[in-house]
Amino acid sequence: MNDIKLNLSKLKGKIIAVDGPAGSGKSTTARMLAARLGYKYLDTGAMYRALTHFALANDISPSDGAKLSVLAGKLPIDFETHEETNRVFINAEDVTEAIRTPEVTLHVSEVSAHKGVRTAMVVKQREIGKDGSIVAEGRDTTTVVFLNADIKIYLTASVRERAQRRLLELAKKGVSTNVEEQEADIRRRDEYDSNREHSPLTKATDAFTVDTTDMTIEGQVDHIISLIRSVL
Ligand code: C5P
Repeated sequence: MNDIKLNLSKLKGKIIAVDGPAGSGKSTTARMLAARLGYKYLDTGAMYRALTHFALANDISPSDGAKLSVLAGKLPIDFETHEETNRVFINAEDVTEAIRTPEVTLHVSEVSAHKGVRTAMVVKQREIGKDGSIVAEGRDTTTVVFLNADIKIYLTASVRERAQRRLLELAKKGVSTNVEEQEADIRRRDEYDSNREHSPLTKATDAFTVDTTDMTIEGQVDHIISLIRSVL
């Protein structure tokens, strides 16, 4: 681990928001960054995935915005973050793996596009982040959820690189697929997330863009820490 020095007293209570498209490296980078800073880590995508998983398991259609919005306000989603993993729970049931299946991935963008779903999730996310000392990541943490974040980062990478990363991730879980399929899925989600009516994925004007195509995860974390040092 690199020993970039940080002034920890200056860092107390800050909010770091990281947005970007699917496969840009947000989750791992944000989780490792939070561990380095001694911050909480919030994976907002996991919340939309948990809702999608629960809806599919309970025969609620991804197009049923009314039912999903009520559910989003009530569903108890909890996290347990460790250095290497971020475990996700619904009603104390561990759904960490269940929320990453191709079926959930296929439907999550439709579920998360409903206005009522987003409103309910944003309330929960702000509650989790109310004391600061948090790294939050997703699609709208810099533009909606934490508009007043102290540092905003927009992570991106080429579609091919993002597809290759997903391929590796899925291969580790024994899911067999190919790079073309993953590229198509990433393009479909980019398109959906960027063009939806409510809180589309977009780069905040005050966000730093970090292109991670040729960076390692450690390199990404170090780079963001350098940005934090230059601003705080
Ligand atoms: O980050 P991840 O790929 O797990 O997110 C899954 C999906 O959840 C995204 O493709 C997007 O449709 C949705 N999402 C969102 N707003 C967020 C985070 C995720 O709409 N803040």
